Amino acid sequence: MTEKNWQSMLNKALTSPDDLQGFSLSEKEKAYFSMKKDHDNLTFMVNPYYASLAEDKWDDPVRRQFIPTVDEYTTKKYELSDPLGEDRYTPVPRLIHRYRDRVLLLVTDSCAMYCRHCFRRSFTGHKAGVISYGELENVAAYLSDHREVNEILLSGGDPLTCSDKKVREILTVIRSVRPDIVIRLATRIPVVLPMRISDSLVNILSENSPIWLVTQFNHSNEITEQAEAAVDKLIGKGIPLLNQSVLLKGINDSVSALENLFQALVRLRIKPYYLFQGDLAAGTSHFRVSIERGREIMSRLRLRISGLALPVYAVDMPGGGGKIPLTENFAMSEDEENYYFRNIEGKPYSYPREK
Ligand SMILES: *Cc1c(COP(=O)(O)O)cnc(C)c1O
Repeated sequence: MTEKNWQSMLNKALTSPDDLQGFSLSEKEKAYFSMKKDHDNLTFMVNPYYASLAEDKWDDPVRRQFIPTVDEYTTKKYELSDPLGEDRYTPVPRLIHRYRDRVLLLVTDSCAMYCRHCFRRSFTGHKAGVISYGELENVAAYLSDHREVNEILLSGGDPLTCSDKKVREILTVIRSVRPDIVIRLATRIPVVLPMRISDSLVNILSENSPIWLVTQFNHSNEITEQAEAAVDKLIGKGIPLLNQSVLLKGINDSVSALENLFQALVRLRIKPYYLFQGDLAAGTSHFRVSIERGREIMSRLRLRISGLALPVYAVDMPGGGGKIPLTENFAMSEDEENYYFRNIEGKPYSYPREK
């Protein structure tokens, strides 16, 4: 597909309830749209490809990711507009330096659809636009001064909503100062607009190796022939793929939904990397599952699927605490002689202390 084709798919995006003629809206969905004008909420926008993956049922796992409900107006007192406390880690506009050896760059605030569970919703779909050449030069200067940074995550918004020309510019500027840096491209494009993965784009990416692509499949209904073709194209040009899912109530919070998803991803040669506990973004509490339930799902999955298919269940702490793995606890106790564990079936075992 040429650039014009995928851009026209975005130009035909559904942006108002009138565009949702193919769906019979539930009371909660209707109530969202009738309240909309008074609020500065996350934009409603979905492209026709992703919308076509949803069935006309209010609880369809794809539909719930793009049609808002009135629940988005419910905010809990502990929810935040900057749920990860990223502001304090921003040394240069758009750049977040939270961990010693890696930085995250907000390339654009646009996406190919807006996920109703978005945790960066106070940035996404607002006015920031695409990173300018001047801003990019400031990022490049920071990277050349900070040699401890070994990896740059390109995020947003979705960096692959940028034109090929802009993607090339961003990669070239970064590579010109840091030929050694690992680039991690965080994008939902293979899931939500796979036709954007054109031969020319894949060539630009492979010319700027090493690039790892991290995507976000949340349900096996998102795995289509088009998505598979996009993934094959990327892997064929030497770009490894990882997946980060978000644990979402009513969408994928069951052992069977996640088992199907993770096994299908491995078959596509995508490594499930993280399963995220929902961040405390304002208006997303209806999607959050308790950590207790998340751990229970993970321990049942551990008995059923291979280590290759099992991601790390993790939570990003509010107030800038960073990511914490929520691995089930296998260690029970220790004494002078031994460490005591339970195995995945819950049986007790010990392992001697090295003297
Ligand atoms: C998640 C994240 C990273 C990457 O963390 P990994 O554990 O390496 O995946 C880097 N920077 C920020 C700000 C992040 O939120």
